[in-house]
Amino acid sequence: MAIATVNPFTGETVKTFQALSDIEIEQKLSLAQAQFLKYRTIPLSQRSQWLSEAATILEQERDRFGKLLTLEMGKPLKAAIAEVEKCALVCRFYAEHAAQYLADVSVQTDATTSLIKYQPLGIVLAVMPWNFPFWQVFRFAAPALMAGNVGLLKHASNVPQSALAIEEIFTRAGFPEGAFQTLLVGADKVAAIVEDDRVKAATLTGSEPAGASLAATAGKQIKKVVLELGGSDPFIVMPSADLDQAVQTAVTARMINNGQSCIAAKRFIIAEEIADQFIDRLVEQYKQLKIGDPMSMDTDIGPLATPGILQDLDQQVEISVQQGAKVLIGGHALRDRPGNFYLPTILSEIPKGCLAEHDEFFGPVALVFRVPDLESAIARANDSPFGLGASAWTQDQTEQDRFISELEAGAVFINGMVKSDVRMPFGGIKRSGFGRELGREGILEFVNVKSVWVK
Ligand code: NAP
Repeated sequence: MAIATVNPFTGETVKTFQALSDIEIEQKLSLAQAQFLKYRTIPLSQRSQWLSEAATILEQERDRFGKLLTLEMGKPLKAAIAEVEKCALVCRFYAEHAAQYLADVSVQTDATTSLIKYQPLGIVLAVMPWNFPFWQVFRFAAPALMAGNVGLLKHASNVPQSALAIEEIFTRAGFPEGAFQTLLVGADKVAAIVEDDRVKAATLTGSEPAGASLAATAGKQIKKVVLELGGSDPFIVMPSADLDQAVQTAVTARMINNGQSCIAAKRFIIAEEIADQFIDRLVEQYKQLKIGDPMSMDTDIGPLATPGILQDLDQQVEISVQQGAKVLIGGHALRDRPGNFYLPTILSEIPKGCLAEHDEFFGPVALVFRVPDLESAIARANDSPFGLGASAWTQDQTEQDRFISELEAGAVFINGMVKSDVRMPFGGIKRSGFGRELGREGILEFVNVKSVWVK
C-alpha cells in the first residue's frame, strides 16, 4: 500500500511519501534506544511539563490539525476538531495523574522494606489505524511517555501527514529527540521491527488479521503486546427504555466517524414489543442526516476513508441481501459523485447464517434484530466473535443488573452510548483483543512491575 494522502472526498492524491529504507529504520531504532537510556532517568515532573505543553499545542492549533484529519480520512470537521481536543485532554490527564499511578507502593513483608516499583520497559512500537488518526496515537503515547518509555509509531499508510504532525507536536512540546518518532513504513516492515531486540513491547489497534500477525511475531520473541481490534457492539433496547433518547443516541452511536469506529453500535437488538416503533423512528432519523463535504461544519456523514473500505462494505451489504436480509433505507454506494460515499443503511430481518449476524460492518450500516425477551437479548448480544463494548437501554433494575453481569464485553453502558473516557480503562475481550488503554490500567500496560525486597 502506497504511503500517501488521498482525499476521500475527491479521490485526488494530495501528497505521496517515500517509505523509509532499512538503513533509515535502523538509524531511528538506534536513536530511540540511545534516548531511552537517558529519558528513563528524567523526572516525572519534567515529562509532565512537556506533555502539558503538547496539550497546549493541540488546543491552540485544533483547527489546523482537525482539517488535516478530515483531509486524510474524511471525518466531518467538527468531529475532527473534537478529536484533537480529546487528545489534549488525555495529555493533561496523564500529565496530572501519572505520578500517582506510578508511585511506589509499600507492602508489609518479612523484609525491612518491601516495595512495588513501576519502571519503563524501553522502546514500545505502536501500530495504529486511520479511523482516529490522532486519538489512537495520543491515548497510547501520553501514558507510555509519562511512564518513561520511548515510542515508535507505524501509522496507517493513508494518514502520513497526521503521523508526521504528531511527531512534530511532541518535538515542539520539548520531548528530547528520539523520545517519540514516526516511522513512515508499510505493514511489511512491522515484523522485523518487533523482532528487534531493542523493541520491548508493541501495541496494535486495527483489524484481526493485523493483530494476529503482530501478536504471533511478538509471541515468538516473548514480548508484551496490547491489541485493540474490531467490534460489533450490541445496542439493546428493552420495552421500559426512554425511546426518544434511545433512538436519538442510536443514530449517533452508529454514525460516529462515518460509521468507522470500533465501538460504534453495529447490532441493534430490539425487544419485539417496541421494535416497530423503534425502527420507524430510526428510519425517520436516518432521512435527516446530511451527507456531503466533510470540511463543511454542518455535514453529518462524510465519505468513507478509502475506496477499499467502500468496496468491502458494499459487498457485505450485497451478500447479506442475497442471503435474505431486508434493506429498510439506503443499501448502496453513492455513485453520482466522486468520493467514497455510502448511504446510511438499515438492514433488518437478518436470517440465521447470514454474514450480517457475525461480521463487523465498518461504515454507516445498522443491523437490526428483534428479540422476544431479556434472555434472547442477552444471548443475541453475546452471539458474536467480538467483545468490545455494549449498550443497553432499560429502566428496569433487574434487567440492568443482568446486562452488567452477563454481557460479554470490555465495557457496558446502561442508557448511554459506548464511548472512551480518559478516566476509565478501555479495551476488549474475545476477538476484540486484550490489554487496556486509558485510566490507571492504561499506564500500567507498559511498565515493569518490580518487586523490591530489602533487609
Ligand atoms: P488494519 O488494516 O489492521 O490497519 C491498522 C494498522 O495495522 C495500519 O497501520 C496497518 O498498516 C497495519 N497493518 C496492517 N496489516 C498488518 C500486518 N499484517 N502486520 C502488522 N501491521 C499491519 O486496520 P483497518 O482495517 O484499517 O482498521 C479498522 C479496524 O480497526 C476495524 O476492525 C476496527 O474495529 C479496528 N479498530 C479497533 C479499535 C479499538 O480500539 N479496539 C479502534 C479503532 C479501530 P497499513 O496501513 O500500512 O496497511
